[in-house]
Amino acid sequence: KDSLVEVNNLKKHFHIGNGQLLKAVDGVTFSIRQGETLGLVGESGCGKSTLGRTIIRLYENTDGEVLYKGKNVHRLKGKEAGQFNRDVQMIFQDPQASLNPRMTVEDIIAEGLDIHGLARGMRRERVTELLQLVGLRKEHASRFPHEFSGGQRQRIGIARALAVEPEFIIADEPISALDVSIQAQVVNLLEDLQAERGLTYLFIAHDLSMVKHISTRIGVMYLGKMVELATSNELYKLPLHPYTQALLSSVPVPDPTVKRERIILQGDLPSPANRPSGCGFRTRCPKATERCALEEPVWKEAEAGHWVACHLYD
Ligand code: SF4
Ligand code: MG
Repeated sequence: KDSLVEVNNLKKHFHIGNGQLLKAVDGVTFSIRQGETLGLVGESGCGKSTLGRTIIRLYENTDGEVLYKGKNVHRLKGKEAGQFNRDVQMIFQDPQASLNPRMTVEDIIAEGLDIHGLARGMRRERVTELLQLVGLRKEHASRFPHEFSGGQRQRIGIARALAVEPEFIIADEPISALDVSIQAQVVNLLEDLQAERGLTYLFIAHDLSMVKHISTRIGVMYLGKMVELATSNELYKLPLHPYTQALLSSVPVPDPTVKRERIILQGDLPSPANRPSGCGFRTRCPKATERCALEEPVWKEAEAGHWVACHLYD
């Protein structure tokens, strides 16, 4: 399938004082295909949110590029920039923080319609449609965010994102703040909407168990780099990178005949402002050798469609 988004050697660095550079995203290359869900996982601070925010142009890039339908998103101007701002929407982790508490649900959902001049006297009707689409009711339009539960607020966030009829949605930990019982409902809603509207998703989560079912492919990040990318099935069956293997070893296996040895990672996650030399994972890797401190592993396709950055696969 064709790529909708191509990320080429993308870097996003931040100056954090004292001459220190935080390499939040540091040379990431992958693509997102039309209609797929690409899951993106990694511990907090690994750069997933920064990557999402750079793709959607909330951040300028430091180096490298993001192509959307072949066009460099950080160079878009005028009409093309406006179209991109409609086509690509974001859903945030904390619907509480991302919904303006002083605005009614109607005004929140219709904001994008107003900005892009799409309401045209049909504002009420569009908002009602959107509320119903996400499993809420017409009567909810006049209420305020605090009157809703966490799951309902996330539905409002989804309705807001859908209002301008986007093609691509970046969901940044959309279920992490929700009760476990509500998480599946929100995931099901996102899947139904995808099937109906042919949406493409970048679905960010800190935990592999959250992305398994919704993702076509999964990318794993560690300290600002992508370390592995494969189809969801393949990543679960045959994880190549020692970090992915450790992450997976803590995910419960539904089939009791499959035994997975629990791998406990030693040490703490280093600061991205102070990356270890060579392979960033070497300070916690059970398979590290001398070479891992000297040479940075390159990002390569170890098997068809299965990418990894680790010297074990050179
Ligand atoms: Fe471990 Fe070395 Fe592979 Fe890095 S390159 S993941 S330290 S084996
Ligand atoms: Mg984050």
